[in-house]
Amino acid sequence: MNSDVLVVGSANADLVVAVDRRPAGGETVLGGDTVLSPGGKGANTAVAAGRLGADVALLGAVGDDPYGRLLLDSLRAAGVDTGLVRTSERPTGIAYITVTPDGENSILVSPGANSSLEPADVDAVFDGVEVMVASLEVPLPTVEHAVARAAERGVKVLLNLSPAAKLSPETLAKLDVLLVNEHEAAWLTGPGADFRELLELGPRAAVVTLGAAGAVVVEPDGTTEVESPKVEAVDTTGAGDAFAGALAASLADGADLVSAAKRAVRVAAFSVTRPGAQPSYPTAADLGE
Ligand code: ATP
Repeated sequence: MNSDVLVVGSANADLVVAVDRRPAGGETVLGGDTVLSPGGKGANTAVAAGRLGADVALLGAVGDDPYGRLLLDSLRAAGVDTGLVRTSERPTGIAYITVTPDGENSILVSPGANSSLEPADVDAVFDGVEVMVASLEVPLPTVEHAVARAAERGVKVLLNLSPAAKLSPETLAKLDVLLVNEHEAAWLTGPGADFRELLELGPRAAVVTLGAAGAVVVEPDGTTEVESPKVEAVDTTGAGDAFAGALAASLADGADLVSAAKRAVRVAAFSVTRPGAQPSYPTAADLGE
């Protein structure tokens, strides 16, 4: 018997350094102390769902190294089933992140083990799964294969189009929910386009996250604006992944999409009030549920 929620996606160690300015080619610049934390869109999404109490597994890959162990520990501490996290011969993925005083992040990702996730890895993993949620820091053919297999098995399919990548029309048509932020929505349908145009690409529904403004749920019979609670934002890293994990957890519990999005904005808003990605995600008790 598998978990209710299956996350297909990346696990990365985030190495974050504060810098006054970024080095130009051939230049050396001294920065602050390195802060190491567990990250990657797949692992973040799974941890967000796990902390809310969902029965969730991550399908992914890490290296046989200390960063891989850090990620597995963080997943397990959140109650995530790691039985489908493969140990690859390649090193654990790493995101090298520099942050300048204006708060701007600049990120270089070395995918490492995440690149070794193959289409064959997603066969035979869908028994008992209610909702699959995938994101795109793992190879596109693997994600497209996972979407096809999940749809065949009657699993609800949620795709977080992050980072933005060109999906085939066949894959888009198999999505129950396409999850994008404003930039990804504009990338798909052109700047200023009506969010309803997202459905013309094939998914049965779409959710567009709008940062502090919350989210919009687009369904064939109408569009619903979901306001975010007003909070003092400290660090928005991983807010989109918190939203994705919470949305999947609620859908697996049988919530309709608008109710799931209402809970997801509360979860994501809570996450921006604390530093980091995974450490900032709330439990149901944190939300007062
Ligand atoms: P990120 O790349 O930072 O993970 P994103 O660009 O994928 O995020 P956003 O639309 O910026 O996605 O944020 C996702 C969700 O997080 C929003 O729908 C909202 O619920 C919450 N959120 C983000 N920023 C804020 C904020 N300043 N105040 C309250 N909620 C926020």
